[in-house]
Amino acid sequence: MHEMSLCEGVLQVLEEYARSQDYSRVKTVWLEIGCLSGVEIEAMRFGFDLVMKGSVAAGATLEIIQTPGQAWCMQCGKTVAVTERYDACPDCGGYQLQVTAGDEMRIRELEVE
Ligand SMILES: [Zn+2]
Repeated sequence: MHEMSLCEGVLQVLEEYARSQDYSRVKTVWLEIGCLSGVEIEAMRFGFDLVMKGSVAAGATLEIIQTPGQAWCMQCGKTVAVTERYDACPDCGGYQLQVTAGDEMRIRELEVE
């Protein structure tokens, strides 16, 4: 499962932070997931609990913030909102879109102790 390795990536970051910022436990993780990233939220939640077991983030709460998708339409010459990666432009119906936001996943905030 793709989300499993994403969770492992998150854990690596959390453990690095724990070392550099000297905390012993992560209580809450706010994860920003773009709606074009292809990440399945439910799979992410499932994977998170499994992967964090026995780690610095064991039992931590996962808060997911979904961010909207945006793309640049070459035909319209402006930024438009898209909900799927291969959507057509909502204004002109064209497919010359370059995704500019919403295809990433990142840790926005942590609550630690
Ligand atoms: Zn357009």
